[in-house]
Amino acid sequence: MTTVIDGKAVAADLREKVAQAVAKIKEEHNVQPALAVVLVGEDPASQVYVRNKHTATEKSGMRSIEHKLPETTREEDVVALVRNLNEDPEVDGILVQLPLPKHISSDRVLNEIHPDKDVDGLTEVNAGRLMLGKDGLVPCTPQGSVILAKTVKENLSGLKAVVVGRSILVGKPLAMLLLAENCTVTMAHSRTKDLAAVCREADILCAAVGIPRLIKGDWVKKGAIVIDVGINRIEEDGKKRLVGDVDYGAAKDAAAAITPVPGGVGPMTIACLLRNTVLAAARRRGLGAVEV
Ligand code: NAD
Repeated sequence: MTTVIDGKAVAADLREKVAQAVAKIKEEHNVQPALAVVLVGEDPASQVYVRNKHTATEKSGMRSIEHKLPETTREEDVVALVRNLNEDPEVDGILVQLPLPKHISSDRVLNEIHPDKDVDGLTEVNAGRLMLGKDGLVPCTPQGSVILAKTVKENLSGLKAVVVGRSILVGKPLAMLLLAENCTVTMAHSRTKDLAAVCREADILCAAVGIPRLIKGDWVKKGAIVIDVGINRIEEDGKKRLVGDVDYGAAKDAAAAITPVPGGVGPMTIACLLRNTVLAAARRRGLGAVEV
């Protein structure tokens, strides 16, 4: 029997643990951790993401501070806002919603975020810490992917992991996290030769590509753990649907465990953002270790 990994349930559990850690911090230190989110422009999808983050942050007992700036905002003004948030002692986490309007360099803005408040884990300092195996803030989606894999098998040591996709946001940090779990990691991408054969080697097969059902059922080794990060909107039989990068119906037969889309990796991202925020608050304010 294939295990369908219930990302919604695992995420709900993680959010509950975060809420408990927040309550403990409030009780013991009279501190309410705060997340500041910066949204520039009116991109409809970004507005939905920011609203969801706001609701989840407040539900966890943390303070959510929103900064909504018009599309025409100058890069210098976004940088100035980030610098103010860096200096603000009440702010524990800073998230700049991507994509930024085209006239603003997201690279510059992201790297202005203080690394200890960088709850998206996207600054060069946090990427470097991850590479070096040092404590830092780890990007949310790859972090959630590893948590889900570990619900199937607590110890991933020695397993062969294949990560398809090498983006800064998902593929690369996911490969680093799996390496930190002592997996033998292969990174595959758009130039990989015979992707099917590479995937068939995987005990843990992770797909973060953005191509609907790229990974076919017969690319999945019998008994593999399949983590599908892809979220693709398609139209099929006249209906709009969300599908992953894995051909779920076919892959499910071979896999020992698989994440569905939706309801797999997706819900983990916000849960891990909340986790990062409470961890950042505890570290920055010197409140000691928190269990989340
Ligand atoms: P990206 O476009 O930045 O990167 C895609 C990667 O896939 C690239 O590294 C590229 O080399 C690789 N690729 C492209 N075509 C390929 C091919 N034919 N064969 C093998 N590799 C190929 O995308 P991303 O930001 O990493 O996102 C990937 C997917 O994950 C998207 O569907 C996105 O919507 C989804 N995503 C989900 C979450 C979430 O669950 N919360 C978060 C981020 C991204």
